Amino acid sequence: MSLIVQKFGGSSVRDAERIRNVAGIIADTYKAGNQVMVVLSAQGDTTDDLIEKAREINPRASRREMDMLLSTGEQISIALCAMALEGMGLPVVSLAAWQVGVHTTGAYSDSRVQRIDSERVQRELDKNKIVLVAGFQGVNRFGDVTTLGRGGSDTSAVALAAAFGADLCQIYTDVDGIYTTDPRVVPGAVKLEAITYDEMLELASQGAQVLHNRSVELAKKYRVNLEVLSSLERKPGTKVKEVVKMEKTSIAGVAKDTSVARIAVVGLEHNPGVAFRVFSLLGRANINVDAIIQSIGRDTSKDISFTLPRADVEEAMRVLEEHKSSLGFDHLTVEDKIAKISIVGAGVMNTPGVAARMFEALYDANINIQMINTSEIKISVLIDEEDAVTALRAVHAKFFGNGD
Ligand code: ADP
Ligand code: ASP
Ligand code: MG
Repeated sequence: MSLIVQKFGGSSVRDAERIRNVAGIIADTYKAGNQVMVVLSAQGDTTDDLIEKAREINPRASRREMDMLLSTGEQISIALCAMALEGMGLPVVSLAAWQVGVHTTGAYSDSRVQRIDSERVQRELDKNKIVLVAGFQGVNRFGDVTTLGRGGSDTSAVALAAAFGADLCQIYTDVDGIYTTDPRVVPGAVKLEAITYDEMLELASQGAQVLHNRSVELAKKYRVNLEVLSSLERKPGTKVKEVVKMEKTSIAGVAKDTSVARIAVVGLEHNPGVAFRVFSLLGRANINVDAIIQSIGRDTSKDISFTLPRADVEEAMRVLEEHKSSLGFDHLTVEDKIAKISIVGAGVMNTPGVAARMFEALYDANINIQMINTSEIKISVLIDEEDAVTALRAVHAKFFGNGD
């Protein structure tokens, strides 16, 4: 008997018909003799709608109350799906994160799974029940509900799979696998049979929303056998694993991220320790900085520009302004109409000519590069947001053709 964790995203449980469809998949897996644990997301656009409702009441609502509100979406899904399975005569129980004991740490709205109690779920599995767990939520040391960040239900599923040593963790979604880029934006995108944890982690971190990046991090750490597949078509999806047979190309995929911004700290003194002070302040404020460029001005002052998530701009500006006199800069500028395009692949940095091909594709499309950032397995460029889709298509076509 195998233990299988199945996660269904928002569009897969959008309405009654889709919930019945999902119940059918769960029922088949259960009837095939498996133990089944299921994680569900909120239905369709529920989470966005709840955010909108909160804005109407108080645009500056606390993160604690936001989590209290947003976590309700997932609870609706598990209860409805449990009802569908009950209607099919199957033994089932739905559980919120606090009932399971999904313990989290860190900030509200962006917490991390610390550990998962096994007792309650195990008891239900031992009674041969299908266990449905609300995704995206956990409970912190104050007993408060927290959420795991947008797209976090993937992480709930992988965390459960890791905690229970599941044989397989299936992420069902509205595409039939992981592609070389977003198939909804680039029609020529090619479906991958498999991808490594490292490549998928980088793609997810660079904007490919098909998997929450922390879910991939956990899957790698605990060697979870992960698969992304469609809830609407029954066919094999894409496996995410440690090692993958080398494909013809050294590139696994291309990603676009339009949730980034750039801040420039202008007119810093050209002394040792300045960069250290700027970035340790940002680090202490929990702000994740990505690409960094330092340029020296004519009068020996210097500017430091860096990219960060758009959502953190306000906080970063506040922290830097607060320390303006001790840092000794002239002023700050913010640019948020930018996008990042990244190519990801195990051999990116040690395959000659890859960077040149990427830059050539952008040159041919007449797109200006503002910043470049590289790591062993990725090359990212910062460009104008309005060029993002053109750039994604051009770079993808350069490495994978137009799909014909
Ligand atoms: P769910 O609601 O099931 O969690 P998401 O919307 O979070 O689904 O993720 C699925 C979407 O991810 C797809 O509809 C697709 O548009 C997008 N996507 C982005 N990059 C990729 C990629 N490389 N491969 C597949 N899908 C991708
Ligand atoms: N419902 C949450 C969101 O929309 C979590 C998820 O779908 O994974 O972000
Ligand atoms: Mg998702």
